[in-house]
Amino acid sequence: MDEIVWARDSSEGFILSRITEILDDGAEVIPLESKYQKRTLPFSDIFRANVEKDRDYDDNCEMMFLNEASLLNNIRTRYYKNKIYTYVANILIAVNPYSEIPSLYSPEMIRNYKGKSLGQLPPHVFAIADKAYRDMQVLKQSQSIIVSGESGAGKTESTKHLLKFLCHNWGEESGLLEQKILDANPVLEAFGNAKTTRNNNSSRFGKFIEVHFDKSFKVCGGHISHYLLEKSRVCSPDGDERNYHIFYMLMAGAPEKLRQKLGLTKPDDFNYLKSACTRYFTKPSSEKKLSPSQKSEDHTKQGPLKDILLDDVEDFNDLDQALSRLGLTDAERLQIYATVAAVLHLGNVAFEDNPDDSRGGCRMIPSKERSLITASTLLDIDPSELKQALVSRVMQSSRGGMKGTVIMVPLKVYEANNARDALAKAIYSNLFDYIVNKINRSIPFQASSYYIGVLDIAGFEFFTVNSFEQFCINYCNEKLQQFFNERILKYEQELYKKEGLGVPEITYVDNQGCIDLIEAKTNGIFTLLDEESKLPKPSYTHFTGEVHKAWPSEYRIGLPRSSKLKAHRSIRDDEGFLIRHFAGAVCYQTKYFIEKNNDALHASLESIIQESKNKLIETLFSTSMAQKGKLTFVSVGSKFKTQLGELMEKLKSNGTNFIRCIKPNNKMVDHQFDGSLSLMQLKCSGMISVLELMEYGYPSRTSFADLHSMYKEYLPKELKQLNPKTFCEAMLHSLKLQEKDFKFGITKVFFRPGKFAEFDRIMKSD
Ligand code: ATP
Ligand code: MG
Repeated sequence: MDEIVWARDSSEGFILSRITEILDDGAEVIPLESKYQKRTLPFSDIFRANVEKDRDYDDNCEMMFLNEASLLNNIRTRYYKNKIYTYVANILIAVNPYSEIPSLYSPEMIRNYKGKSLGQLPPHVFAIADKAYRDMQVLKQSQSIIVSGESGAGKTESTKHLLKFLCHNWGEESGLLEQKILDANPVLEAFGNAKTTRNNNSSRFGKFIEVHFDKSFKVCGGHISHYLLEKSRVCSPDGDERNYHIFYMLMAGAPEKLRQKLGLTKPDDFNYLKSACTRYFTKPSSEKKLSPSQKSEDHTKQGPLKDILLDDVEDFNDLDQALSRLGLTDAERLQIYATVAAVLHLGNVAFEDNPDDSRGGCRMIPSKERSLITASTLLDIDPSELKQALVSRVMQSSRGGMKGTVIMVPLKVYEANNARDALAKAIYSNLFDYIVNKINRSIPFQASSYYIGVLDIAGFEFFTVNSFEQFCINYCNEKLQQFFNERILKYEQELYKKEGLGVPEITYVDNQGCIDLIEAKTNGIFTLLDEESKLPKPSYTHFTGEVHKAWPSEYRIGLPRSSKLKAHRSIRDDEGFLIRHFAGAVCYQTKYFIEKNNDALHASLESIIQESKNKLIETLFSTSMAQKGKLTFVSVGSKFKTQLGELMEKLKSNGTNFIRCIKPNNKMVDHQFDGSLSLMQLKCSGMISVLELMEYGYPSRTSFADLHSMYKEYLPKELKQLNPKTFCEAMLHSLKLQEKDFKFGITKVFFRPGKFAEFDRIMKSD
């Protein structure tokens, strides 16, 4: 009755406790630390504990008891020792340290990890990069590295380290191409990252960066695909959040002459930048070195590793040079900056009710003329035509059978605001596409044989108000989770079967049902949304009703009032739906779904901007014209569905490596581990299911060849000469490991949890 166990605790995750009484369906436990209360828990909240205090394991599978409590404890113990990386078999867990760990990413480290099998050195993001590289060489197959985690967990930082490793210049050549691939990042961050309440440098788009290799496995090019840039941020960053970094960089960091030319003054002068936090000029990247004094700044206010006004000058210069190295000429760069400035000036154009218009139309507020003219000049379009297109729209009348008569419909104030914002969003997001395109063109990969693709895309999201953006990103995470299940859980079980290891099957939740709900061709939510847009008078309440009607008996979808959260229960039935995702139920508010799914400009506005004489603007809008020619309107949702489909195809045909990033606290501070927050993330990322599977299986496995090379130095000469398989058999049988603790497969030896570590100790101590 004295057994020490892990007992669930709502804030710590788990706490060590002693069982005092076993009950029918649970047990009574007393926590070892007296600050915690005695409690009665069901068996599902009590786990066996590895009791060696403060001991930690590089690979969780070395532990005797594999369960969520021991995993959490191992990660926490390591984190406080500055060991932020941990394996669960081949999956890397990375905890965000929110501080720089000295020399963790030094060039020497890169060299150390080159060519080493996983497990030879402590867990590291470089070890995963090297594994991908070696797998590519040996298996002759392209590889993916899927980096996941919630906002602020460290995906983008991990991605940068992976790319740095993959693009490390091993040869004698100058490494220009590698530099270009690395240059892409500061550019993407400047235009696609922003300060949010969760992360001072939050990526507001997803990306899949491919590093291509030629037949001798040297870097020969790259390609970037990007997903779902958050357009709404351009016009309305939330209260405490900022707009995209580029706006502030340009404002504070561009040379005086350029700023004058673009009419840029200070953020508070621009509607799109007015928010509570404009006074903080965060830097877009944390790559720079810091003085110790900066590191000890008040993190809660400004976030770690950043925030000094002066940095913007340096950041702007870095960006400008990166763009220049990527092959953009002085004129092209100037045009980009002018376009960014034009978005800001456009945002200052405002409207009021027009007392002279009997139909309730609006007019531009006269004092905003200056902004209109500056915006038009920068975009090289006619200001009066722009004004006209913002306050009215042209429609074809079919009254009295006179089809084709063109009439001008005046817009109301809110409609004009919407038109202006739609234009700003279109310009900015087309500019982002253009920049990615430019980068891609400067790193072509004709000589490619294989590639390693790194996916950095937002994890599962769940807020008080969830809209179309969360819907899309959670859909994406359902697909990725399904892929993870197939690759890890299904693959593992198939492997056991194939090798005849006789492990009982683990059931895991198949989320195909949830994916169908969203993407099914006839009645999936995306389809219903597109259908709604085609109606003469689309309405979100009608759309919501259709969704509920289409899936009457599907348990994965529900009414808002079935939510556990009070805030959601007050949403009307026709204003939202609840989806039970693999990671939890999310209630979506459908109010802006229709608008957010449609990023087309109204025709008059589109034609004005297309008539621009500015070369860049012309390019930005020429593709949408091509689409128009085909008369196919592509909604945001269906475009994303297609893109995601293509990405999944790539992932399926590649070898896979997973990195799960964990955010240890919500305050963005170092050395603070919030147990329940971290546990939640481990659950959402599917790591707990992996452990369950491993607990009954053979989680540590090594190929005969690796085992041979790792231990040959510990054994007598005659053994060394044996072939790897015979060598391993001889070695394992000569030790006193029990037969049930390991099994021989066709290519590998498999060990029960904790047994490989035991074997390693025996070998090294003998
Ligand atoms: P989002 O989804 O919002 O883009 P993310 O997962 O990409 O979030 P990052 O931007 O990579 O998160 O990380 C957030 C911050 O955490 C970084 O700006 C940096 O300050 C810190 N950080 C992350 N990883 C590390 C690391 N390995 N070492 C030091 N600091 C780190
Ligand atoms: Mg990011």
